[in-house]
Amino acid sequence: MNVSVVLFTADLRLHDHPPLRAASAGGRAVVPLFVRDRAVDTAGFAVPNRLAFLADCLRDLDAGLRERGGRLVVRSGDVVEEVCRVATEAGADEVHLAADVSRYAQHRDERLRHALAAEGVRLHVHDAVTTAVAPGAVTPAGSDHFAVFTPYFRRWAQEGPRDVLGAPRAVRVPDAVGSERLPVQKGVSEGLAAGGERAGRARLAAWLRHGISDYEDRHDDLAGDATSRLSPHLHFGTLSPVEVVRRSRTAGGAGAEAFVRQLAWRDFHRQVLAARPDAAAADYRPRHDRWRTERTAREDIEAWREGCTGYPVVDAAMRQLRHEGWMHNRARLLTASFLTKTLYVDWRIGARHFLDLLVDGDVANNQLNWQWVAGTGTDSRPNRVLNPVVQGHRFDPGGAYVRRWVPELAGVEGAAVHQPWRLRGPDRAAAAGYPEPVIELSEGLARFRRARELD
Ligand code: FAD
Repeated sequence: MNVSVVLFTADLRLHDHPPLRAASAGGRAVVPLFVRDRAVDTAGFAVPNRLAFLADCLRDLDAGLRERGGRLVVRSGDVVEEVCRVATEAGADEVHLAADVSRYAQHRDERLRHALAAEGVRLHVHDAVTTAVAPGAVTPAGSDHFAVFTPYFRRWAQEGPRDVLGAPRAVRVPDAVGSERLPVQKGVSEGLAAGGERAGRARLAAWLRHGISDYEDRHDDLAGDATSRLSPHLHFGTLSPVEVVRRSRTAGGAGAEAFVRQLAWRDFHRQVLAARPDAAAADYRPRHDRWRTERTAREDIEAWREGCTGYPVVDAAMRQLRHEGWMHNRARLLTASFLTKTLYVDWRIGARHFLDLLVDGDVANNQLNWQWVAGTGTDSRPNRVLNPVVQGHRFDPGGAYVRRWVPELAGVEGAAVHQPWRLRGPDRAAAAGYPEPVIELSEGLARFRRARELD
């Protein structure tokens, strides 16, 4: 019997899955395998919110496979050892998986290639499974990646993506290969979204019907919550980025165009990280910052993490993160700017906190967006500082977002909620219990400008 193993990683779906399609070509039997990778646990990436979403995804993938006559095989341990073991048990002569971009993934694939070759098993790594356009598929003259988004986007838009593949009608799994039980896990955030391909496809369908057309006008409206919330599904691959781009383009209009541009940002960061895996931890463009750290800014960092900085829109966003394991993009921008520019704290500390809670927490998108905001990444204006009061007035003009997440300010009406230190009389009393600002904005700005030698 000809048997292939498909190693599922960040591509937990049956629709538009090139490795599964290739593995089952010609009626081959397939072992759909997920390895709970010990290295991911020890590196601190296996946090409860993402593990809870992952558990939903695995349950749903297993259910989808069972409907097609198959099942999911789950193992845990060292990913290379487990893949080799399963390949031997199944008598497989090839293994398929999706290409990924982190240093860890690149290293894992190299180890796998060597270990499988020693057993006479071929490894096939498939592009454009976790991205719409593969890293390296478009490059500028004289470099292996684009460092600026706009020229990247021009080429990306011309490039593709490839055609969408359907889900398999049947999957034949050899009986001999046993599985561990599917994991069960609870997240720490009460408002965590449900995972799984079905949930992702339902969200995408609803988004294309009702949300995408207004995206250009409403995506920055904090209270309106008018973005797709597809990020965890793209992170875990319960949705194919190729399919999301294709179907969004079919929806058409200015909203769809703006939305597809955001999807290109995701690919942009991935092609940067694929070429510069060190950018997950090291400055992409060093500015010689001498950041404040846990040792020198402990109280400020704690106030930021807890949503107690005294700047309402920052605090609302940080509390949303804790409650939902998710945060609006505009809120991510302004909270990251507040930590790195106003408090002048090392971006890695903020990035770590986001990774501890975000259900879509993703090395490429998180670390490179943090660097973008900190001015050590690909932003062409590395010294811009977002003023949280101005941001609050602009993107939460009625104050509804702040009132939703900061109960101490729920009784303060209108835009006055963005400057509680200015409240007088009964309004002041309504805001009792809300903290004073941890820093004057002018003081933070002056410190940052001095540090970057801008004056
Ligand atoms: P939508 O606005 O509906 O956008 C659709 C999709 O486009 C998103 O799901 C996402 O895949 C992609 N996208 C949108 N904005 C960006 C962007 N700026 N960069 C890259 N891709 C983008 N996104 C993550 O997926 N994981 C992270 O860990 C992450 N960390 C971030 C940290 C900071 C400091 C900042 C500023 C941004 C971060 N982002 C991250 C990007 C962005 O904020 C989220 O992708 C977005 O808020 C998710 O919500 P949505 O799906 O409703 O987005």
